[in-house]
Amino acid sequence: MKVIELKDVVKKYGDFEAVKGVTFNIEEGEIYGLLGPNGAGKSTLINMICGLLNITKGEIFVLGQSMERGSAKVKSKLGLVPQDIALYNNLTAYENVKFFCGLYGFSGSELKERAEKALKYVGLLDKANSTPSTFSGGMKRRLNIACAIAHTPKVIILDEPTVGIDPQSRNHILESIKKLNEKGATIIYTSHYMEEVEAICTKVGVMDHGKLIAMGTKEELKDSVSNINTIVVTLQENQEIKTDGIKDIEGITNVYCEEGIVKIDSYKEVDNFDKIILYFTDKNIKIKNIENKTPNLETVFMSLTGRTLRD
Ligand code: ADP
Repeated sequence: MKVIELKDVVKKYGDFEAVKGVTFNIEEGEIYGLLGPNGAGKSTLINMICGLLNITKGEIFVLGQSMERGSAKVKSKLGLVPQDIALYNNLTAYENVKFFCGLYGFSGSELKERAEKALKYVGLLDKANSTPSTFSGGMKRRLNIACAIAHTPKVIILDEPTVGIDPQSRNHILESIKKLNEKGATIIYTSHYMEEVEAICTKVGVMDHGKLIAMGTKEELKDSVSNINTIVVTLQENQEIKTDGIKDIEGITNVYCEEGIVKIDSYKEVDNFDKIILYFTDKNIKIKNIENKTPNLETVFMSLTGRTLRD
């Protein structure tokens, strides 16, 4: 089932086109990563999906309902974790979650239970009675997430939820997202960190300059840019070795050796790792390290745009 459908969506701020005709669908159960550098148009796009920004042109459907006419009923099935932390500093963590969840019509004991459950989910139950002003950046982000999920939305949208936080909170957030997805929520996750998208997302849309320039599973995207892995062999001694024999191994397309490092390009689908290692052991060449470098999402972005994600 399609949870989100975008048809040729355009957003203009005055004369500036921040989103330039984006079309894609998100299926139920996905963790969909929107990957792109700062300014690519990710926030603009998801704010339109949530009905927080008007669409200049095109159409967005959330759970089958047009967002232009987005009723409160559809909005209640969405949970947005915005990039800017939105919390009340004069309320405790528990009161913050109750406030946001209460906006969806919950009250009484159900509201209390939901608030406690959401705080537990993000690992902040023991801080329920503290105010966010005493929290670290990572804890504030986790509280932000609790506020967005207490009404158990079907679709959870997180806009760069790990920017500027400590590694422990980052891991906690990534684990929480996976758990929410296992429990049935469809997730949209924007990030300019390819490692995070790589770690948790099932599908990826790559955005640049307001356009969706590629989409698919991680494997599809990687395969689309290269069918070659590079095997990097670091020798124990800084030496030049003869590489002719390596070139003759099935599947190898290129070999170069420089300052004790041998780089071997090989077709991904050919299983030749054993033969490569045998070449070195046969010649009694001592290996310090061997690494199989497969293309990653950064390679994908580079090959599509000629830039890195953090240029
Ligand atoms: P991302 O989330 O990928 O970093 P944004 O959606 O925030 O990208 O921004 C996309 C582009 O739109 C940027 O060039 C940004 O400067 C511009 N932009 C964002 N919000 C506004 C606004 N309210 N008015 C004018 N330009 C904006």
